[in-house]
Amino acid sequence: MKVLLVEDNPTDAFLIQKLLKSSREIPFEVDVSETLSAALEYLSGESAEVILLDLGLPDSKGLSTLEAILAAGSATPIVVLSGMDDEKAAYQAVQQGAQDFLEKGSIDRKGLVRSLLYAAERQRLRTELEEARLREHELAYHDSLTGLPNRRLFYDRLGQAIEHAKRDKTMVGLMFLDLDGFKNINDSLGHGAGDSLLKAVAERLESALRSSDTVGRIGGDEFTVIVENIQWAQDAFHVADTIMRSFEKPFEVEDHEFFVTTGLGVSFYPEDGEDIESLVKRADVAMYRAKAEGKNKYCFYNPSMDAQSLGRLKLQSNLRKAVERDEFVLHFQPQVNLVDGNVFGVEALVRWEDGERGLIPPGDFIPLAEESGLIIPLGDWVMREACRQVKEWEEEGLEINLTVNLSAHQLRFEHLIESVAEAIMDSGLRPERVGLEITESVAMNDVDLSIKMMKHIKDMGVNILIDDFGTGYSSLSYLTRFPIDKLKIDRSFMRKIPQSRNDVALASAIIALAHDMNFEVVAEGVETEEQLRFLNERGCHAMQGYYVSKPLPAKSFMEWLVVNNPN
Ligand code: C2E
Ligand code: MG
Ligand code: MG
Repeated sequence: MKVLLVEDNPTDAFLIQKLLKSSREIPFEVDVSETLSAALEYLSGESAEVILLDLGLPDSKGLSTLEAILAAGSATPIVVLSGMDDEKAAYQAVQQGAQDFLEKGSIDRKGLVRSLLYAAERQRLRTELEEARLREHELAYHDSLTGLPNRRLFYDRLGQAIEHAKRDKTMVGLMFLDLDGFKNINDSLGHGAGDSLLKAVAERLESALRSSDTVGRIGGDEFTVIVENIQWAQDAFHVADTIMRSFEKPFEVEDHEFFVTTGLGVSFYPEDGEDIESLVKRADVAMYRAKAEGKNKYCFYNPSMDAQSLGRLKLQSNLRKAVERDEFVLHFQPQVNLVDGNVFGVEALVRWEDGERGLIPPGDFIPLAEESGLIIPLGDWVMREACRQVKEWEEEGLEINLTVNLSAHQLRFEHLIESVAEAIMDSGLRPERVGLEITESVAMNDVDLSIKMMKHIKDMGVNILIDDFGTGYSSLSYLTRFPIDKLKIDRSFMRKIPQSRNDVALASAIIALAHDMNFEVVAEGVETEEQLRFLNERGCHAMQGYYVSKPLPAKSFMEWLVVNNPN
């Protein structure tokens, strides 16, 4: 064990060295400094395992000697040597960080050696404890994957930033980021790759920002940035720009190179909120707004995005994710020929399979999908999946027709024709087997556009059905101009048949009209035998409704069909 003995009295130094040299427990190597400055000089170059320190030196007296050694930053354990008269100082020295003290007059070999060994051991334990504490702190406040501040530390830092800004009369910008399509990457490349990407994003963010900005990770693919010392909102625009631009370069993960974008929302102290909670909430709202607008977007909070719309924004953003993640399923409702009773077709009806909320009906998300333009990719998926399924059945020996619903937005989408044609072609179905359902109100909304699109659809050999007929106040003269194959009587008419004379009259009139104009007519929402009898009497061609079957998942539909329509 290497000992630094700081002792100006040559006799004392000699005695102590002699005791240590004769130690039988372990060998000691002793270096001696006679002054404090010599000791400090020594410690700056060399290291000892223990320091034996006399407090009274030529250039320093008492506790300040100890303080000077401790202040030199040496973690070396110190055992203080005291004279008979300054035992009190020695005791204080222990309180201040020395490991032990020995009274010069009564030192024996055994006591000296034990004191030094214990001092070294205690110091080792103390260091270990200190390191464990640091590690624990690191874990409690940092994200173990990226090393960034976690949610807890992020809240602390935001609180501090607000305090500073209050004092300095500056602004704080709070940014929330959520990567676009992260789940996809995770699912397709594996969690390892996902983790690597998150690390790469963390690094990218840190290098894009000033060291005074705090980057944190508060959840899966959610990051935060606290931008301090903002004088003008403009400054935050620059920071947001810088962040968005930092995503322009591809990320390299496990030999793959790919592009990732992010949605970003910003709120400001004090304008958007003066406390942590409201700033966080509003940055969140702004981020959801950005996500709802599409990929690679950023958005600054403004009060019109009030909390009320948050639910809606979240839904919209979840819907976008759902489209990326393929969280949809199709159910199929049989269509029955009323003349021979055979199932000749199915209508494909989409449902959203949300992990948390279960199966969501189309009425709850189609309007939102329309509003956000998501109906285009969603409609494309529906078309492809429906064709694929019906083709699969065809290959199993079941020849069946398919109808798919089109929304208003899709009809206005210039590439609709191409994407429908592609979906049908890719599936290998014959176009004559496929029909598109367009609701009456949509068709009437822009008659010229509808006619144009319907003609294109007909040119492909695909059928056209007017859905929910009777609710849209068609001018009957237009009906002759649409190249239609079938009318579907809205289910609201069925509900009160045969009780309501009005509805009986209306439904009868629609059926007669269809006959006269040479359209086929399909009744929707048939739930009772009486309704069925009514339809038969009027010569309605076909029907759909719970009386026959609810819309069913593909597998159940096949099972149902085997039982109910063996032909
Ligand atoms: P729709 O095209 O008129 O579809 C018929 C709706 O009536 C379906 O509701 C079906 O489950 C329901 N229905 C069928 N038989 C009966 C019955 O006997 N009684 C009652 N009470 N209801 C019956 P669903 O599946 O909730 O769909 C609602 C609407 O959402 C559809 O009305 C359609 O306009 C729209 N939709 C569904 N799937 C899609 C899609 O893939 N794309 C688009 N653009 N719209 C879709
Ligand atoms: Mg329909
Ligand atoms: Mg309908």
